[in-house]
Amino acid sequence: MLFDSSSLPPNKRLKLGADVAIVGGGVAGLAAMRVLEERGIRTCVLEARSRIGGRIHTVRDPRVAHPIELGAEFVHGSAPELLAVARDAGLLLYAVEGERWRARGGRLTRLEDFWKRLHTVMRHLDAEQADRSFAEFLDDAPGGRHAADARVLARAFVEGFHAADPRRISVRYLADGGSPSEDARERRQLRIADGYDRVPEWLAHGLQDRIVTQAVVERIEWGDDGVALSVRRGNVPSVTTIAARAAVITVPIGVLLAPAGEPGAIAFAPHLPILDGVRSGLTMGAVVRVVVLFRERWWADHLRAVPRGASLESMVFLQGDAGDVPVWWSLYPMQAPVLIGWAGGPAGLRLAGRSSSEIQERALAALAANLGVTRRRVAAQVVACWTHDWQHDPFSRGAYSYALVGGAQSARRLARSIKGTLWFAGEAAEPEGRNGTVHGAIGSGRRAALSVTRALAQDARRS
Ligand SMILES: Cc1cc2nc3c(=O)[nH]c(=O)nc-3n(C[C@H](O)[C@H](O)[C@H](O)COP(=O)(O)OP(=O)(O)OC[C@H]3O[C@@H](n4cnc5c(N)ncnc54)[C@H](O)[C@@H]3O)c2cc1C
Repeated sequence: MLFDSSSLPPNKRLKLGADVAIVGGGVAGLAAMRVLEERGIRTCVLEARSRIGGRIHTVRDPRVAHPIELGAEFVHGSAPELLAVARDAGLLLYAVEGERWRARGGRLTRLEDFWKRLHTVMRHLDAEQADRSFAEFLDDAPGGRHAADARVLARAFVEGFHAADPRRISVRYLADGGSPSEDARERRQLRIADGYDRVPEWLAHGLQDRIVTQAVVERIEWGDDGVALSVRRGNVPSVTTIAARAAVITVPIGVLLAPAGEPGAIAFAPHLPILDGVRSGLTMGAVVRVVVLFRERWWADHLRAVPRGASLESMVFLQGDAGDVPVWWSLYPMQAPVLIGWAGGPAGLRLAGRSSSEIQERALAALAANLGVTRRRVAAQVVACWTHDWQHDPFSRGAYSYALVGGAQSARRLARSIKGTLWFAGEAAEPEGRNGTVHGAIGSGRRAALSVTRALAQDARRS
């Protein structure tokens, strides 16, 4: 059970003595909490939603034997922080392996050399050159005449994986982050069999009494000596105040940049100039993800668009070119009758804000078009469909961050402490190009917590 202080009189200070207030109970906030508590520093995590985990959002449905992920799903690359949590928590991971397919003009073909083809374009990214957008970079035809199709794949990759608009994303940031096509270890993807939410659960275990849910931080007053946070609890009209020596702020940058007065928005007094830099350097990418449960794995049967003698039995990823949801994947090697649709970047932005039923309609139409079957055939197989609008969720306001042209250093700047009182952490404040990931968020929370520990130790030496 999470600590619930709703029984406290609303006008009273929350009775949670804390050295450090942590804003946000996603993995960054929870990881920071663990590090600080392990060093004897008392924390209080304020989480706006009624659950912890933030952009890790696993749901369980009695009709499905496995968890359904509406937020993070994969363990990307080497991810040391996550692998350590998985080991300590005894989580079962399995590798995502299978065939990549491509749908073009109603025909399906195997995409065997995806990473190699991507690399023919991405290897031309150069962190030393003047910054510009990925779209401008593509205009120079990197890879030459023979790489025209690889450039189509590269654009789709940047839109899908980075959830980015190619006309806005910085090539310097892409170059700094390293192209995943270079290193096989960084291309590896794993899934957590029992659900991604086991990660925040493990980070919180034994410390649940430090976490207050339905606690929306609205204002942070800060100075050399400490912070005072104004917090609204659930639907209670009045605001309570929490004082602490320092604060670690882990809310998504979509929330940090939200206009004053919007739900979730935080006012800082005095104003924080760093946020002006964040506004011009970073933005939230858009994703609409749709999870569809079917009666059976009907796509593994013979489809006319698949070459003779082949089948989609071992299909894991499908890069399509039709409709509003161009990318699909299965849970292969798990034999589940589930497909996940993904619209990232501009495609995600176009879909976000529509009703769940409209998103489902458009997703199924896109799937049918890409697989060359009738919409009716797909619809007849549907049992259930799940989606979550991250773009309009007041506590995320987007899926995950990327750097705008000129903003490749913004995450590094955001990760610096402000007067030894405020620290920003979370995926967007990950200084080593691992933003937009769970392991990057955990790493950033731990990094901030270690820096807070050093600052508090200095305080103690001075007094
Ligand atoms: C659709 C989708 C798919 C993804 N897929 C993957 C993937 O496969 N692999 C991967 O590694 N990563 C993936 N990610 C990214 C990953 O989920 C995030 O990078 C990571 O979970 C961010 O953790 P965080 O702690 O930085 O932020 P969050 O998880 O967003 O935590 C911040 C917390 O702050 C809270 N909050 C917001 N405003 C306030 C306020 N005013 N007061 C108090 N609390 C507040 C929020 O409710 C939230 O719980 C995906 C994300 C999305 C949206």
